[in-house]
Order: sequence, then C-alpha cells, then structure tokens
Amino acid sequence: MADLDQLMGELNPAQLKAVQHPPHIPLQILAGPGSGKTKVLTMRIAYLTTYCHLPPWSICAVTFTNKAANEMRDRLFKLLGKDRTAQIKMGTFHALCAMFLRRFAKFVGLDGNFTVCDADESKKIITKLLKQYKDELVEKNVTLTENGALGFISKVKAKGWTADDARRHVEETNALPAQKRKSRNMGKFDPWEGELGRILATIYKDYEKSLREANSLDFDDLLMFGVKLFKSHAKASKWCRHVLVDEFQDTNTMQYELMVYIARACQCVTIVGDPDQSIYGWRSAEIENLAKMQNDFPTTQQLYLEQNYRSTGSILALSMAIVSQDKGRIQKTLHASHPQGHPPVLRVFPIEHVEAAFIAAEIKRLVAYSGGMLNWGDFVVLLRFNSHSRGIESALQKEGIPNRVLAGHKFFERMEVKDLLAYLQLVDNPHFVPAFLRVVNVPSRTVGEKTVSEITTRAQQLKISPLQVVERIVDGKIPDIKPPVKKKLASFVHTIRILRKYANDGVAPSKLINALVDSIHYKEHLAKTQPDADSRWDNVQELINFASEVEQSGPEEVVRRMFEADEALHEKDAEGTDGEESQEEWEDDLNDFDGDQSRGIAPGDTPLRLFLQASMLSTDTETGEEEKSKEKVTIATCHAAKGLEWPVVIIPAVQSGVFPSSRAEDVEEERRLLYVACTRAKGLLYLTHTTSRMMAGEFVPAYISEFISALHHDKKTKELFTETLPPLPPQDRKIIATVIGRPLPADEEVARRVSEYEKTSRHPAWGEHAPFLNPAMGDCGPEWQRQQFPSAPY
Ligand code: ATP
Ligand code: MG
Repeated sequence: MADLDQLMGELNPAQLKAVQHPPHIPLQILAGPGSGKTKVLTMRIAYLTTYCHLPPWSICAVTFTNKAANEMRDRLFKLLGKDRTAQIKMGTFHALCAMFLRRFAKFVGLDGNFTVCDADESKKIITKLLKQYKDELVEKNVTLTENGALGFISKVKAKGWTADDARRHVEETNALPAQKRKSRNMGKFDPWEGELGRILATIYKDYEKSLREANSLDFDDLLMFGVKLFKSHAKASKWCRHVLVDEFQDTNTMQYELMVYIARACQCVTIVGDPDQSIYGWRSAEIENLAKMQNDFPTTQQLYLEQNYRSTGSILALSMAIVSQDKGRIQKTLHASHPQGHPPVLRVFPIEHVEAAFIAAEIKRLVAYSGGMLNWGDFVVLLRFNSHSRGIESALQKEGIPNRVLAGHKFFERMEVKDLLAYLQLVDNPHFVPAFLRVVNVPSRTVGEKTVSEITTRAQQLKISPLQVVERIVDGKIPDIKPPVKKKLASFVHTIRILRKYANDGVAPSKLINALVDSIHYKEHLAKTQPDADSRWDNVQELINFASEVEQSGPEEVVRRMFEADEALHEKDAEGTDGEESQEEWEDDLNDFDGDQSRGIAPGDTPLRLFLQASMLSTDTETGEEEKSKEKVTIATCHAAKGLEWPVVIIPAVQSGVFPSSRAEDVEEERRLLYVACTRAKGLLYLTHTTSRMMAGEFVPAYISEFISALHHDKKTKELFTETLPPLPPQDRKIIATVIGRPLPADEEVARRVSEYEKTSRHPAWGEHAPFLNPAMGDCGPEWQRQQFPSAPY
C-alpha cells in the first residue's frame, strides 16, 4: 500500500491545506485546470478516513463520469486497500441515486426491482405517444419531433418538475396576457406554453405512466427520485458523513439539491470546481450553484490552487490567452510548473481530408522521432462534434494506426449489445415493454408490426404485460390472437423461462449471456443479417468479458460492501469516532429506517440486476476496452475529455461554425470548451483548420475560429503559436519526458526509429502553402494533394 504521509508530503502547501481542511467546515476549492483538484479530492478522502476516522462507508464521493469514479477508486485502492475503498460510496450522481433507490425504493413508492431505461428506450415510448396524439397535433397545428419532446421533458425534469408541475406552469402561463408572457420568458421561446405546452404536459404525464407501468426509471428519474428520497426521509442522509463533489461547476439544479440533502445530517461538504471550465450550461448546469452553496452552508470557506502541474508553459499560456478573451470572467492566477516546451502548432489545410491525413502522418512521425517514448495511447484527437470522427478514423486506419472512439458510438449503444441486454432486461423485469418490443422478433420469428400491436392491445385489456400475454397464449391459458403466435413464439418464451430460472438460481450474468446466445442462435443470426458479423460477434464477447469483470469486482460486491461494511472494520471505525456516535445508535437508526432490510444487500439486488444496472450506467470506456485503449489513439469529443489528460492533444476544425458551434446559444461556453480541450495537453498541442469544408456534398469556404484569429492577428499573442512542427531534438524530448513523467529514450534508439520511419514514410510538406518540392520528403506539396483529392477546390 502506498504511504499516505509520503504522498501528502509531495503536495504543495495550498494543496496540503485543502486536504487537511477541518472536515466540519464546508469547503470550495476553486482552481484552474491541471492544478490538482481531483488529486486533492482523492487525497482528502484518504485523509478523512485515515486521520479523521470517518468510516469509508460514510463517505459519498461524486464524480462527473463513471470513468472518473473508476480512476479515483484505483488511486484509493493504493492508499486504503481494496476492502476500505470498496465501501466508499463513489460514482456519478446517477449511479449513487440508483444505488440508494434500489435499497430504499419503497420509501418513494417505487419497486426496488426497477430497470434503468436508456435514451433509446425512452424514445420508443415517446414515438408511441406521438403516434397516439397524431391527430391532436395536426388539429392544433403543433409540430413535435421525438427528440424535441424528449429534450423538453428532460429539461424540466432536470429542474425537478413533475408532470403536474409542468401542467400547472402551462396553465398559469397561458392565463397571462401575451405581453406579460413574453416578458416572463425574457423574449425567449418557451415550449411550455400555448397549445404546444398543453400537449407536451399531457405527453409528459403519459410518458411517466408508461415508465412506471414498465417499472423503469429514466436517467432524469434517478435524480428526481433520489432528491425525493433524501428530502422526505432525512435518515437516508445518516448514511453519509462527508460529501465530496468533483467538477462542481457542471452540476445542475437537481444535482445540487441532491448534494444539499445528502449532506443534510452531516453538513460536511467539499467541492472542487473551475468556473472557467463550465461547459454543460446547455444541459442545465448552473454555475450559480457555487454562490448557492455559500448560502446553504454559510460557514463555507474557499481555497485556491495556483500551480499547474499538467502542461508545458507554452500550452498553458495559449490556453489562458483563449479564456482571457472572455471579459466577464474573474481573472485567476495559474503558474506553470513545467518549462515552455514547443509552442502550440497552428496549421491550415485546404480540405478536411488533407487535415485528417496530416494528423495521422504527424502522429506516426512523433512516435518515431520521440524514439518510441510516445505511443499510440498518448495521443488524443478532440472534436467539437461526434460526427466529425469518421474522417479522422479512416485517416488513422489508412496509416495503420489503432484507434478508438471515446463516448462516441458507445459500446452499450451497439445493436448486438442492446439486443442481448434487452433479453436480459426482460428476464429480469417482464413488465419492461421497450425490451419486449426490441427482441420479440430478434432473430426473426416472422412476427410483424400488426401482431405486436395486437399483443400490446391485449396486454392493455388484461392489464398485464405483453410478455405475460405471450406466455399465457403459449401455455394455452388464453386464446391465441390473429395472426396466431403460439407456434411462432413458443421458443421465445422457452428461452426467457430458462434464463429466468437460471437468474433466480443466481447464475452469473456472463453465463446467462452465453446460454442466451446459444438458445437464440445469435451468432448465426448475425452472420445471416449483418455484413460485419465478425466484429459484432467480437462485441458480444466483449459484453461477456464486461459481465465477468462486474461479477468479480463489480457493483454487487461494491453495493454489498457499502451497505454491509465488514463487521470488524465497522466496530473499529465506531471506536474511532470517539464516542461521537456509537455503533448501536447507527444500527438503531438503520433499523428504524429500513426495517428488516437494515443489513446486507436488498433482496432485489440479484447479480443479473446489478449487472444490468452497471451496463446502463456505463460508458464505452468501462468495458474491457479500457486496457486495450492504452495502445490506441483516442478520438473523443471535447465534452467527453473533461478532467482527463494526454501527452499530445490535436484539435482539428478550429474554425468558425465549429468553435463556436453555429448552433450554440452561448458563445462564451464554446470558448470555455476550447479552453478545456487545450488544457488536456501535457507536452504538445496542435490546432488545425481548413480553408474549405464539405457541407451537404459541396465544398464551401471555411474560416479560422474567431477565438484563435483574434490572438493570431495580435502581435502580442501571435507568438503563442508556431507553424513549425516539433523537430524533437534532444532538448525537446527531454522536456516532454519530464512533463509526461517517462524515461528519456537512448539516442541510438531514437536514431534507429527515425531511420526506420524515413525508409517507409514519404510525406508531403503539409499545409496550404507547402512548397511543391521538399527534398527531404519528395514532391508531396499541393500537386500531390491534388492527385490524392482531385475533387477539392484548390
Ligand atoms: P482538471 O480541472 O482538468 O480536472 P485538476 O485540477 O483536477 O484538472 P488533476 O487532474 O488533479 O488536476 O491533476 C493534474 C495533473 O497534475 C495530474 O497528472 C496530477 O497527478 C498532477 N499533479 C497534481 N498535483 C501535483 C503535485 N503536487 N506534484 C506533482 N504532480 C501533481
Ligand atoms: Mg479534475
């Protein structure tokens, strides 16, 4: 185990002060990127459990992504050991709510066996409702898309509005004279008024009804019911003696409320954040929460960290110049700990293809010229939009560079993964209609839309679920429908029943998936229907791997430990609290609160259910792909890159309409997004853009991003960039080695790799004004580019 004292000795005085801040005085640590906020938060957890004797199970740590929770957990493993770390309640707000709600479901009128339903499944429900209200929509001349309806509903749920609240708001607003309505909305479009508002409120109500009938919660529900639980049952917060929140600047109203309620009993809160990195305003994040916290916890103190440990001086200087253009922001100090390094590279290309080809070639060159110190896994390409990833992916593939898209086409959104999960959801929860609709005809059982609608109608009449209708038909308990399904669906029912039996017997989810794919001949189904059946089958294997991982160290174990801390530890911790509160008192409280379920995992927590929950709350990176990702170039959106860091960051399409996005409402938020992207870089940063881009099949002119042009045209800030690619002479290599904390490769190794590279790679003199002939690399200037991309407008 790592030595906490020694690690604390490596902190700077401000960081140490933050770690050792008295637990009962609420604390805001406000600081720029790379200043060690997440590090301090992690060390503070270790400090609180080790020196302030807080039992690990009484600590509630909130991260912005599941990936961040895993990283934090990994670090704490080393400091506290596996047992103690596993007891800490750690995860995103959503994951924590799911965890508490499973256990305390009945206190908010839910059934603990709920299924977490993802965006796709929500969309299916909304599609059905929009169909149902089609005539009314036409009659009232209201246009409403599925995404529109879902988005509007999600936005009000993030504010904590129930369907009844929404209805009330609509009626109140509609009762106002037009002029007053306008000023109430400050001239902005409000979907929750007029006929649109009325119909939205109805759809919202029906949507909630469908979810409850299917015994499922969508992502917003997790927070809404979480708040309800902590608000109405003060004792739930007894589980918690210190709340810590990372990336606080991006919490929304509901999440903030949740934090306040969780901390209601203990009043001990530590948050870290950076207003300059607030990039989720579009998802209802409220930067005002910082001020609110000072009201709700009047003794709150603030601490600042001013030393950046992540980036070279020149990367930090450019990043600060970008964000400082926002005149409304509060200036902050951030000193670089590292030397200047090679200045950020700014390059322009004629078209996106050339830009992407450059990126791939440059990554290859850097790996060679760094003597192998940089590997594929050290590079990230950060995009404003997910949809831009295709060009980059194919350019990397062309060069034979392994790559992965982070939080792009998510693992759990892939067809084959969703099919299998839907089967398991149905096994777990026969009322979960979206899963039934997804798989009743997968693989094809010649059950058409009409038949499915007959089944659902029958289900509504009998007040049972569609799956139960099919089961009863197959059992001959109710008459068959038309067209008949008994024969067609007998094997479907058989599969579900076998799996249900296995699941009830506690068979591990990985084994269930194996049994499932055998039973429905899924591999054959993929081969018959999918051109890329092999890679899809790989994903099925990956899902099985993920299930095994969850089984070994996953939520079941974690939840069990969190709520049933090891007896001995429990007692020791209770002694350690210095009579502040005895073990018995705690036990009493819990008994009061939770009746006969006070200890152990809730009866609803079967391995299957916990596996499904882990899948629903996971993102791409938490599958076994994570290990392999170390050898791959990452492609990610700037939003997904929050909180993370890479030795080399490349940001393409730094141009108008992209940075800022032409669809963005808040330009300053877009500027901060570019700032977040740049500050992910440790050693090298590249910004590229093009003079034209493809839009709907046509080339149109493109212009450099206004965030950059302003700096580039100013003599004072122009020098923050260079066009020169880093030659990586020994001095440069040394700086990169220090910044990324790697040993410097021997000169001979560098020479060997460079010569190998030069033998195999002939690359163009990149850029719009590249010379026609580059003696070192051959004639690969505009002429070469023209040949490669004949349709581009040179
Ligand atoms: P962001 O705002 O981007 O989330 P952050 O403030 O959370 O950044 P961290 O990720 O905690 O910053 O730290 C950035 C990097 O600096 C990490 O690699 C971390 O290990 C390192 N670091 C932080 N403090 C120190 C220190 N005192 N000595 C050496 N390295 C440090
Ligand atoms: Mg951080």
